[in-house]
Amino acid sequence: RGLQLRHVSRCPWQVQQRRLLNHFISNEPVPAYTLDEGVPGTPTRFTLAVKDNIATVPSSSSTASPQWPTTCASPFLATYTSPFEATIVTQLRRRGARLVGKTNLDEFGMGSHSVHSAFGAVAQQPSQPPRQSHNKGDSDDDGQVLLSAGGSSGGSAVAVASGDADVALGTDTGGSVRLPAAYTGVVGFKPSYGMLSRFGVVPYANSLDTVGLLARRVGVIRRLVVGGDEQEPGLWAEWDARDPTSLSAAARRRCASVREGYGGFQEEEGDAGRVLRGLRLGMPLEYNIEELDGRIRDAWSAAAKALQESHGVRIVPVSLPSTKHALAAYYVIAPAEASSNLAKYDGIRYGSRDPEAASDAEGGVLYAASRGRGFGDEVKRRILLGSYTLSSEAMDNYFIKAQRVRRLVRRDFNRVFALDNPLHDKETFSLSDLPDSVAMEDKWGPEEVDFLLCPTAPTLAPRLEDVMNQTPLDAYMNDVFTVPASLAGLPAISIPMPLEPETAGDTPGTAGLQLIGQYWDDARLLSVADAVS
Ligand code: GLN
Repeated sequence: RGLQLRHVSRCPWQVQQRRLLNHFISNEPVPAYTLDEGVPGTPTRFTLAVKDNIATVPSSSSTASPQWPTTCASPFLATYTSPFEATIVTQLRRRGARLVGKTNLDEFGMGSHSVHSAFGAVAQQPSQPPRQSHNKGDSDDDGQVLLSAGGSSGGSAVAVASGDADVALGTDTGGSVRLPAAYTGVVGFKPSYGMLSRFGVVPYANSLDTVGLLARRVGVIRRLVVGGDEQEPGLWAEWDARDPTSLSAAARRRCASVREGYGGFQEEEGDAGRVLRGLRLGMPLEYNIEELDGRIRDAWSAAAKALQESHGVRIVPVSLPSTKHALAAYYVIAPAEASSNLAKYDGIRYGSRDPEAASDAEGGVLYAASRGRGFGDEVKRRILLGSYTLSSEAMDNYFIKAQRVRRLVRRDFNRVFALDNPLHDKETFSLSDLPDSVAMEDKWGPEEVDFLLCPTAPTLAPRLEDVMNQTPLDAYMNDVFTVPASLAGLPAISIPMPLEPETAGDTPGTAGLQLIGQYWDDARLLSVADAVS
């Protein structure tokens, strides 16, 4: 609340006034081929946009490059430049990426619509037809309806959807790559936790944070992650000693040895049938919630039916009973970790200092004044929530309980997937471990599955105006289908799913179809998503 469409920052540290519809953190039109010259000797194979909570420095060969900031869309870091580059950016440069810009986001990745930004809201470009809304509503000066691009990697999604970048990096803590992909009609992939390096990625909630990739087609992402040939090793294989959560080389080898598809990318053009035949896809009953838009429900069942009829896929109803508690658990755990992570922004170690605040002996006034002015409202809300749930009187009721729910969510997934989670021994399941409300509903699926097939979000892209007037709780609701995989650290991908012509009305568009896989089943997940899309 309190946000306005034509957002003007009141923060004195904001260095530039930004355009409303900008998905890049820049006032200028994207100077695509002058910003960055790529790595000497490496031919440019694709253009890359990078979410602005991922550290970048100009490549050594570029002369025209300004020193790029890494702002996290926070007034606090409006002038911050990183002395080093994120590993993932370096890895992609080596594979032929040419950077075209830093993209707008919700401050520090906290949000679902990319409206909580010091640079103003991201919207789907007016030049694009309004994809998924059939309502007449608010509009910009040209009479164009403005839609949410999803968040928090909304800028990255629009950069890809509009063709300004072939690939974009985002971060996915609870759905921030998948949700914007769903709203803008592109592909968004969240890898297994610990697969892609997070060194140089500004942490939001460490136990959940992943770096994700967005592109217009699955194949592009698949090639980067799984790898082509010996010259082009997959990102999955690269352990990063500088990221303590990066899976060790030995663990990677062990995981890959019990998984298919890590032998490198092979073109399977026209061979979707072979990839899909005999596959068992689970449709989680708990995802068919009352709030699910009818058009998405119809498209979801049509997609399942088509896979069954034309590719011999087995569709199996499954139950993930802890799903209904996952959202609440996420919004306890993520803010708790955020409140701890953001403690370093005090105007002394990190962040702009409030120029007017005098420092007392302990620096308390300076801290408070700098943090009061430096953070946006949503970030402050998360810090308050997190500090509360970690406080001694609330800890047991909130943080500890949420951790228990997280275990149950993980167990639900382990239970329905045919593959074991290579990081855990197969957990024995006991009804007495479940909260009473859950234990009553013993509707476990009869059969184990390869992947789960479900919508990415319960609604189509909402109008920006409606989003601005939402309560925070309404916004959190958008993440209901994406947070379970995040809590369990599982790979998941959102691909565009056509709406059914009968129900879509006169503006056909797409919704996001989500595939979720068992831990480190990313290679197979990507080839199945490629075949499905
Ligand atoms: N919308 C979620 C949140 O605000 C997810 C954000 C993310 O994945 N970075 O926490």
